[in-house]
Amino acid sequence: MNAATMDAWISSKIGAPLTRASLEEYQLRKINETLALAGERSAYYAPLRGQRLASLSELAALPFTTPQELFAAPYSFLCVSPREVERIVTVPTSGSSGSAKRVFFTAEDLELCADFFHYGMRLVVRETDRVGMLFPAKTPGSVGDLLREGLSRDGIIALPLYEYSRDLAALAAEIERENITALVGFPALIEALALSAPQLGVERVLLSADYVSRGCVETINTAWGAECFEHYGLTESGLGFAVSCAAHAGCHIREADIYAEIIDPDTGKNLPDGEWGEVVFTTLTRRAMPLIRYRTGDISRIIPGSCPCSSLLRRLDSPRDRGLRKKLPPVTPQGTDAPHGL
Ligand SMILES: [Zn+2]
Repeated sequence: MNAATMDAWISSKIGAPLTRASLEEYQLRKINETLALAGERSAYYAPLRGQRLASLSELAALPFTTPQELFAAPYSFLCVSPREVERIVTVPTSGSSGSAKRVFFTAEDLELCADFFHYGMRLVVRETDRVGMLFPAKTPGSVGDLLREGLSRDGIIALPLYEYSRDLAALAAEIERENITALVGFPALIEALALSAPQLGVERVLLSADYVSRGCVETINTAWGAECFEHYGLTESGLGFAVSCAAHAGCHIREADIYAEIIDPDTGKNLPDGEWGEVVFTTLTRRAMPLIRYRTGDISRIIPGSCPCSSLLRRLDSPRDRGLRKKLPPVTPQGTDAPHGL
């Protein structure tokens, strides 16, 4: 399926034919609605009460939100009553403090995730695919559960295989038994599976939830001849953020739900398209826990120019050094928008 469906979806969400101008007008309106909600309802954003932007460029004057602040006081971000919270996702940190981020979702927030998976997965799979999900799927509102829900809206079968992920031989046997043709999961796990079971008939793969190396993609291509797509997302962004299209020239951002910025991690200043820096986002449609200028710690860039697929949605390059703000790599010369960016 092609990227036009993703643009049509965004167009229906913004309620206007999709142009950069109509999208940015919508984003400004949604940022102001988010500021009003967060300023009124959350303790953390109370200092922003009464703030209203006249243009998107004014967003750069607002303070950042950091993951550390989210660890420290997650309930200070809550904008709805606890009984409206449908799901709390706890994200453990890699540090030794034992603290964890808590991210709250209302039923409407979860529906936004399923809706993105419905349309975003149209870039990746075909209606005839049988999809194997290597993410947890048992809990209502989990990634696998929402992905299964999104795919089911196109009549696509998605089977949870996460329980086999510790035993590659058993996983391979299940994939063969169920005639799985597409996989969604962690890059390292799917790469290990490709190396150990090159006989599988997997045709399409969506790599998600972690840094994707070029070596990983090449291994999967070589073993299965499978087409590899990439998804970038965080729990804080509402699970989904951006997904690659058939042109494999960056990941299209779900711009009706997320406003993305790239900043210099040292100075905090916005960087122009094409320059590498830290990914910062503002949620546009979330109710339980809207986030304003949230610093992800991930290094990427907005790929300048238009995608060969002709989508109007901006593209995020493959993040580098996920979660680690190391020395920035040199800026890639324009015109070398290689697949997967690395
Ligand atoms: Zn594209």
